[in-house]
Amino acid sequence: MANLKFTVLAGDGIGPEVMEEALRVLEKACGGHTLDYAKCDVGGAAIDSCGKALPQSTLDKCSEADAILFGSVGGPKWEHLPPNEQPERAALLPLRKIYKLFANIRPGLLYGELSAASPLKSERIPNGIDIVCIRELTGGIYFGDKSVENLPDGNVRASDTMTYRTDEIIRIADVAARTAMSRSKKLCSIDKANVLQTSVLWRKTVSEYISKNYPEIALTHLYVDNAAMQLARDPNQFDVFFTENMFGDILSDEMAVICGSLGMLCSASLGVSKNSLGFKFGLYEPAGGSAPDIAGKGVANPCAQILSAALMLRYSFGLDDVAKRIESAVRGAVCSGIRTADIAFGKAPVSTREMADAVIERL
Ligand code: NAD
Repeated sequence: MANLKFTVLAGDGIGPEVMEEALRVLEKACGGHTLDYAKCDVGGAAIDSCGKALPQSTLDKCSEADAILFGSVGGPKWEHLPPNEQPERAALLPLRKIYKLFANIRPGLLYGELSAASPLKSERIPNGIDIVCIRELTGGIYFGDKSVENLPDGNVRASDTMTYRTDEIIRIADVAARTAMSRSKKLCSIDKANVLQTSVLWRKTVSEYISKNYPEIALTHLYVDNAAMQLARDPNQFDVFFTENMFGDILSDEMAVICGSLGMLCSASLGVSKNSLGFKFGLYEPAGGSAPDIAGKGVANPCAQILSAALMLRYSFGLDDVAKRIESAVRGAVCSGIRTADIAFGKAPVSTREMADAVIERL
């Protein structure tokens, strides 16, 4: 029986509402294990309570823990602040940097019963969608040297630099390979090796690493422009795909829209360090934001937060069996017709609490 030590950062908007439900689900699902968590302010809530989106006291608690369960931050109340003091930029980005969260894993899961939530025609996805997008999160053009220069002829020139090192490529390839090994052993690496030098290195490094260390994986490569088309045309031709930071930013959002409601999509961001249990330290959060338009109404879909908690059990606590039980309880509840408004499609919508109750009943 394990001591599951994590920090709860519920944040703003619907964050605290859906977090409360995820914690109830964890209490029910993790019987026998100890849930050892501290709740701390982050984002707008922390700005209001102590003037900083990521207070030192919150960081200290995160550093003592084995994982972070994150809600969402931001909202209109803090939009007047300078960009680098706004909740998302001042809380989430530093957390990624401090804990070196280099691998962002986003399951693109749409149950067949919810096919109507996708903008794709239902006949293209009769059994829904079940793929995984893995994005490199701490390298590439977002973190390379930047400059803005006034030129003598009156023009202004700006530049952003994309760089990748082999060790950065190998560690994300390894996360992707492990994910592929736990599924159908099909892996697609996405780059732009016909144009970019970083992509030439990416493709060579990935090919060598996977063939040497995971010979049973069927590895394919796609250029990013083609990948964007293929994802919209037939998402299930992929199983696990992975790519560098900027391509992943774009493709993961494309995947999110194809998979329907943000209320169902969870994510994991894994760090380089191992936690006290020997698994990866990670931050787990819904793909959506703080949804100010529905905050405080008790109608938000808690499933993305609940599924994020399941990912935490899998990746940071090694409890794959419990994670699977939660995932199948969510599937069971949604597929039996219990739906919040965002996925109701003709059914009478239930509240955030009722949705979580239906999941808990099935555990
Ligand atoms: P959003 O993701 O909050 O909302 C987009 C739409 O999806 C809204 O209509 C919302 O009601 C709906 N939605 C999202 N999650 C839902 C859920 N669980 N159940 C039902 N419906 C849901 O995006 P936005 O409106 O662009 O951003 C709102 C705020 O959130 C902004 O301040 C933004 O900066 C912040 N944000 C934070 C994060 C984060 O904390 N990781 C991510 C994205 C946006």
